[in-house]
Amino acid sequence: MGAQDMAEAGVQERTTVVIVGTGFSGLGMAIQLRKAGRDDFIILEKADEIGGTWRDNSYPGCACDVQSHMYSFSFEQNPDWSRWFSGQQEIFGYLKGLVDKYGLRRFIRFGREMVGAQWDAAEGVWTVQDAQGRSYQGRFLVSGVGALHIPNIPHLDGIERFQGEAFHSANWNHDYDLNGKRVAVIGTGASAIQFIPQIAPRVAQLTVFQRTPPWVMPKPDRPIPGWMRTAFRRVPGAQRLVRNALYWFLEARVLGFNGHPTLLKLASKIAERQIAKHIKDPQLRAKLTPNYVMGCKRVLQSNDYYPALARDNVDVVDQGIAHVREHSIVDGAGVEHEVDAIIYGTGFHVTDAFDHLAVEGEDGRDLAKEWATHGMRTHRGICVEGFPNLFFLLGPNTGLGHNSVVFMIESQVRYVLDAIRLVESSDAQALRVRPEAQEAFQREIQRKLAKGVWSTGGCTSWYLDSQGVNRTIWPGFTWRYWLQTRSVDPSEFELVQRVPAAAR
Ligand SMILES: Cc1cc2nc3c(=O)[nH]c(=O)nc-3n(C[C@H](O)[C@H](O)[C@H](O)COP(=O)(O)OP(=O)(O)OC[C@H]3O[C@@H](n4cnc5c(N)ncnc54)[C@H](O)[C@@H]3O)c2cc1C
Repeated sequence: MGAQDMAEAGVQERTTVVIVGTGFSGLGMAIQLRKAGRDDFIILEKADEIGGTWRDNSYPGCACDVQSHMYSFSFEQNPDWSRWFSGQQEIFGYLKGLVDKYGLRRFIRFGREMVGAQWDAAEGVWTVQDAQGRSYQGRFLVSGVGALHIPNIPHLDGIERFQGEAFHSANWNHDYDLNGKRVAVIGTGASAIQFIPQIAPRVAQLTVFQRTPPWVMPKPDRPIPGWMRTAFRRVPGAQRLVRNALYWFLEARVLGFNGHPTLLKLASKIAERQIAKHIKDPQLRAKLTPNYVMGCKRVLQSNDYYPALARDNVDVVDQGIAHVREHSIVDGAGVEHEVDAIIYGTGFHVTDAFDHLAVEGEDGRDLAKEWATHGMRTHRGICVEGFPNLFFLLGPNTGLGHNSVVFMIESQVRYVLDAIRLVESSDAQALRVRPEAQEAFQREIQRKLAKGVWSTGGCTSWYLDSQGVNRTIWPGFTWRYWLQTRSVDPSEFELVQRVPAAAR
């Protein structure tokens, strides 16, 4: 198709692989395509900069909670991490450095938000639309749109009347001066426990609205001394050794989540000791002590969260929110709390994150509708039956509560490359996962999840969809996932052959 024809058909660009997103997933995919010597791909990114999670979450105290030497690409180890758990700026800088190193900017189309995509079975291509109505075509479509990307802002009764400032932690308003203000924080999840200690000393009053207390373990975070960084740089294998040690240490944590509750009991004791050490008020202590099994929700890590909550200018409210007024929040017990600003630490849309994307597969099948009706069912979190040549990175049931998801993303990228290679080397048009392979994967994974603490631990969490089914977590060792995705098993797929034009 010439430029003229494409313009007439509304198609801006035609390529082989259309990648969506420039977080760890999209960039990881693009880097491996470059390493394979390819430049027949484009990356659509809705924002005007790369980075995903590490671009958006610039709140004070934002950092990873898996050690940086593990929370980074295995093939791009950084000897210069300044701390064991690096902050947002450093991780963002790491990703930008990779974009420069691999010359990826020329492949990225910024300000292009994918809103829909259709599979054209006759041509064997995906046509992708962006929010401005432009289209892009590729034989393969790889989604790296992120699992924790769309802020979840609960509707509070009366919020439209609120006269103060309000923002979500993933859209932090850095122009708003919190000094001396009365601030409400809604939520006590992974982000909130990072920014609460940062803002508590600056604000006049902090009211933390907690629905369920998290389990919080001490965070073994400290600066990495200069000599060690030099050793990582100069001693061959030193950094690899540390990474490997971290990998197996983190990997062991899944034992507690899936079948060995004694380990969780031990860890719970450590967490309870943290509460006892920092919280002297018995009422507050009771509020902050979880009444569900550790691991049921994401286990958090912090050394400064409880000391922040123990401050005189901080209150924890666990009565819920009844409604919001012009300058206050009335809690479930009828107590009015005057506030100048509300900060939502309420997490992200996870199991409904794809609802707004109009992805149509074979015979016009609507992915959002199917997932809303039957749950987010995939094969290995990557492929979906009825949607040939479509791949998800960090898709359903490949999130982790115990190790680095970058490890999962790398496994998936390798699998997708293998799938692309298989299609191209067979001169086929497309690859379609067999329904029975997907069903077998689903049965197996849900059987394992049903036994794990995520389902049996006595809590509800963002891991579960509206039907209470866990569509988020990979329920076991990540090396098992690595093994399962080492290469595409041709018996699980069908190769769709080209239809000669004359036969159409
Ligand atoms: C504060 C925070 C801390 C975290 N810490 C850890 C940690 O320590 N360890 C860990 O394993 N995980 C952590 N996570 C999970 C984290 O999201 C993943 O580790 C990883 O960054 C996800 O990368 P991604 O590329 O899949 O998604 P994202 O980083 O979310 O990137 C998705 C990209 O796609 C773009 N995009 C989305 N939709 C569209 C569209 N329709 N069209 C075009 N572009 C689109 C977005 O703008 C974004 O750039 C953390 C998450 C958060 C929010």
